[in-house]
Formats: sequence, structure tokens, C-alpha cells
Amino acid sequence: MNSRLSIVGNSISKGILILSSFILLSCSVQKEIIDRPIIFDENRKILTLEYLSEHYGLQQDEPIIVPKMIVLHWTVIPTFEKSFNTFNPSVLPSRPDIKAASSLNVSTQFMVDRDGVIYRLLPETIMARHVIGLNHCAIGIENVGDSDNLPLTKVQLESNIWLVNYLADKYEINYLIGHYEYTNFEGHELWLEKDEGYRTEKDDPGADFMQKVRKATQKHNFKPVPQKSKQM
Ligand SMILES: [Zn+2]
Repeated sequence: MNSRLSIVGNSISKGILILSSFILLSCSVQKEIIDRPIIFDENRKILTLEYLSEHYGLQQDEPIIVPKMIVLHWTVIPTFEKSFNTFNPSVLPSRPDIKAASSLNVSTQFMVDRDGVIYRLLPETIMARHVIGLNHCAIGIENVGDSDNLPLTKVQLESNIWLVNYLADKYEINYLIGHYEYTNFEGHELWLEKDEGYRTEKDDPGADFMQKVRKATQKHNFKPVPQKSKQM
């Protein structure tokens, strides 16, 4: 008499088990974006419009971009607060290597702290200065860390994967690249930099990190990074 009841009971328990596993699984990948805006005052707006005009030949009324690319970085600066404070002022304080090109301060739209927390420093479609040649179409994600002393963490990797998925679902993103790959785009239709002497050497965020993010986001079918040799 109880067999039927116990089957029903079993099914219910199984259902609860599956449901709770699903909730647990969802929680483990659930992320949120915390807005922590850097200064975007009239001065930063003017400097950004000047940058778009002088470096890319783009005359715009608003400093906005059409995102086609995501560029991943690491900060080398060891903490979120110090990194935030570096990006926060509108004017570049002291970077003799890039100050001549523009006094617009560097920044990115996103920064991922070592504990995986995702901060949005700028609206997603406002231009940030983070990658020569491509800022007009690139959303930047900084990661607090570096190659040796502070290698990027597993939770940072998970947050980058989540954020790339979020952005690729929202915009028509064709490329996902590491900062170290940016010069491969010289000669590409997206490459608009006019100053041939304006280049920096980059190795962030490392080939291993890029490989892992690419593997986990391959459903978006990003285009392959152009081969440099073909363009030289
Ligand atoms: Zn970088």
C-alpha cells in the first residue's frame, strides 16, 4: 500500500535534490557587476573626443564607441584601490612613454579584483584609453595582478569568462584578445591609429589566461586574431 506513496516520495526527494543542485550550481556562477565609476568630467570628455579625433580621425559629439572587441589586461598594480586611484583622474599624471600622444588618462570600462568581484568603472560604451589603435571599438577588462608576484586567480578567470559572455550576448563582439596581441591588428580595418611611433610593449594578461578564457567562451565563435607575419 505504501509502495506507491514511497515512489511519489522518492520522486519528490529526487526533484528537491535536482532543484537544490541546480540552485547551488547557479549560485556558484552567479555574478553581479558593481558600479564604481571613475571621474568622467567635462575635461575627460574633451580629452576623449580629442583622442578620437587625433588618433583615429573620428569626429564625434559624444565619446562613445561601438563595441566590436574585448581586450583583457592585468594591472601590474597590486591592489584594486591603487589601480582605481591610478585610473580615476581625468588627466594622465606621469607616463613619459605615452604622455606625448595624449594627456587623457588611461582606464578601462571594467576591473576584476583578485577575489573575482567585477567593477564597472565607466559606462560600457564610453571610450577608455587602454589599447593603442583600437580604443574606438574595444571594451577593456583589467585584472588586478601580474605575471610573477600576483598571478591571476581562479575566481578572476571565472569572472572574466562570465563578463565576456555577458558582453558578447549584449554587443556584436567579433574579437576577444589579450593586450599582448593588439599589434597584430596593425593593417586590419579596425586599426585606426595614425601615429606610427606610438606603440608600447605588452605581455598582459598572459597566453595561458587567454587560452582558458577563449576555451570557455568558444560558443561565441570569435574571429581568430590576425597573423602578424601576413601584414609585415
Ligand atoms: Zn594592458
